[in-house]
Amino acid sequence: MPAPVIISVKNLVKSYGDFTAVKGISFEVYEGEIFGLLGPNGAGKSTTLEIIETLRQKTSGEVLVNGFDLDKNPEEIKKIIGVQLQTSGFYPNLNLTEIIHLFIGLYQSETDPIALLKKVNLEDKAKSKFKELSGGQKQRFSIATTLINKPKIIFLDEPTTGLDPQARRNLWDLIKEIRDNGTTVIITTHYMDEAEILCDRVAIVDSGEVIAINTPNELIDNLVATGFEKEKEVKKANLEDVFINLTGKEWRAEI
Ligand code: ADP
Ligand code: MG
Repeated sequence: MPAPVIISVKNLVKSYGDFTAVKGISFEVYEGEIFGLLGPNGAGKSTTLEIIETLRQKTSGEVLVNGFDLDKNPEEIKKIIGVQLQTSGFYPNLNLTEIIHLFIGLYQSETDPIALLKKVNLEDKAKSKFKELSGGQKQRFSIATTLINKPKIIFLDEPTTGLDPQARRNLWDLIKEIRDNGTTVIITTHYMDEAEILCDRVAIVDSGEVIAINTPNELIDNLVATGFEKEKEVKKANLEDVFINLTGKEWRAEI
């Protein structure tokens, strides 16, 4: 039996003046999956996410989140979602514990800051200022902040952009762990290797339209079934494998 639908988007349209960025897209996200929104820059991914997150007004269409209608119960939706803020939205001069306390106050949550930092392997950085963290650590911390209100769904918009290969892998492990603990994850990424490894299902969006939705595996099999072949024989490893092999994949203090 398939998991229940936790997000349903029907005929979603968003226009900015004369320009229609999202052109009537529909998709469903199942409870407990990692769902990827893939597509080139400007495809409408962030717009779509921000509408579901109640942060942007839609032009038309219907959005249901955990059974709540976006038009009627946005406050209920806000309570059960975690949204990753742009990391520039943090106070650079507060330490991590202080920032978590701010969020705990906002959400009236009973989260233990140290336990939360432990979850993302940042317990050693509890007294460090946000601005002192590396890129990967900043992303891990910002994902941690999405968990403070114990959400049913978290939204991650390009969480791995600009990270080095190890930091990216660490985030994959973290995101899978969050999914395995029962939280539904919606993520956008430009990295197809990442989507293939991480996402249970993906929607490919182009110019404001969904052009494919499926598991990565079935999308690949469908392409192969058309007779598609890669031009180059694929080796058993690539340069990224060499890099990871040489520099190590374990958590490192500096990532
Ligand atoms: P993606 O996240 O897939 O890169 P976006 O959702 O950010 O795409 O943007 C989709 C399109 O909408 C782009 O062409 C972008 O320039 C346009 N757009 C986004 N936000 C605004 C805005 N506030 N005003 C006008 N156009 C916008
Ligand atoms: Mg975007």
